[in-house]
Amino acid sequence: MSDHRVFETLLMKAVDDRLTPADRALLAGHLDRCARCREELADFRRIKGRTDALRERIMRDAMIIPPREGRGRRRLVLVATGLLAAGLLSLLGVAAHEFFTDGEVPLIVKVSVSLLAGGTALLAGLAVGQRLRGRGRDPYQEIDL
Ligand SMILES: [Zn+2]
Repeated sequence: MSDHRVFETLLMKAVDDRLTPADRALLAGHLDRCARCREELADFRRIKGRTDALRERIMRDAMIIPPREGRGRRRLVLVATGLLAAGLLSLLGVAAHEFFTDGEVPLIVKVSVSLLAGGTALLAGLAVGQRLRGRGRDPYQEIDL
């Protein structure tokens, strides 16, 4: 029964036309023997057909054009993000230096700002880390049937 989980994942990939040739052959062999998976595949295809039709109708009604980002555009966004981050870090560095070397700012304010900045940096780091860990994951494996 536990190997059936593999086939359930393959069924979802088949519906989305995401099977590798090896997976396609494996699934075809299994479908020949398993009526339950044939029924499930038919169900998945029927559901996908309906949701695709609904999606198309919504997109047509709303006149929304789905974004298509090419490799060049993604690279440009990455460069722009890098420039923005470098500028922000540079500015923060200068501001932090001015702030912490200013003798008129009370120590309690310096400590409070340090705690605030540390918490913000930690949360931002966690968010970026979570995003990076999520890259390349197979979303089909995360669906619990
Ligand atoms: Zn089966």
